[in-house]
Amino acid sequence: MNTRLSSGRRDSCQYCSAVRCGNVLGESAVIFSFSTCWARLLEPDRRGRYHESVILTEVYRRLFDAFGPQHWWPGETAFEMIVGAMLTQNTSWQNVERALANLRDADLLEPHALYAVPVEELEELLRPAGYFRVKARRLRSLLQFLVDRYDGSLEAMFAIGLPDLRQQLLDVHGVGPETADSILLYAGRLPSFVVDAYTHRVFSRHGWIDFDADYHQIQDYVQSELPADVPTYNEFHALLVRLGKDCCRKRNPKCAECPLRGMLPKSGPLKRE
Ligand code: SF4
Repeated sequence: MNTRLSSGRRDSCQYCSAVRCGNVLGESAVIFSFSTCWARLLEPDRRGRYHESVILTEVYRRLFDAFGPQHWWPGETAFEMIVGAMLTQNTSWQNVERALANLRDADLLEPHALYAVPVEELEELLRPAGYFRVKARRLRSLLQFLVDRYDGSLEAMFAIGLPDLRQQLLDVHGVGPETADSILLYAGRLPSFVVDAYTHRVFSRHGWIDFDADYHQIQDYVQSELPADVPTYNEFHALLVRLGKDCCRKRNPKCAECPLRGMLPKSGPLKRE
């Protein structure tokens, strides 16, 4: 099902003229305007199975209803979001914020200024984020790319657009798909869905993807189901993170209190064989 919104009218879909149903709360929730139009497809069939192309629409709707808007990304500027995306691996966001505060206090949240900092000094500033030596080197690689190739201009860098910029970012030392997509989506506002361990866990436990599905298979699945829309990808990723933290934990998932409990296979969460 093609779920793209019609151009020009952000509050209606191309399939019907129903405008702003009761669920539509704002730009990040435009998805509900068509999910309501297609409400009949959102009902499970007699065997309790959902129409394949609306599974993720229904997941989005249930999570948004349960948790509300998540207001991501928690950064003040696009550059701060990029630095945060480089620091967030294997640590809590609280620790990232402490490292960002160090950079802010030193007036270093600007590409040229940060690139000019000697690596030992950078390591000390990043220490609260953990793995600070590795992260300092990776961040410097990204800064080198940004300064050498785009003279530190985020505007010039993001003007390259998808998919070329995504490939350029993946070629930078220390930038993996999740970091690249976080930079593209949250700092660049380009529609590249961010997959993480929570996404894999939730989707595989419900049987929507294979346990062995890799990053790009999961990303393709989401991007083929949901409209290529920045607010939707932004919110959906944030909602899945919330779900993973609150309910879909690695051990002992709290299915009984989870908004997605009604979408489980009859036998319960699937396990890797
Ligand atoms: S119902 Fe259970 S398996 Fe599914 S997302 Fe919730 S906690 Fe995870």
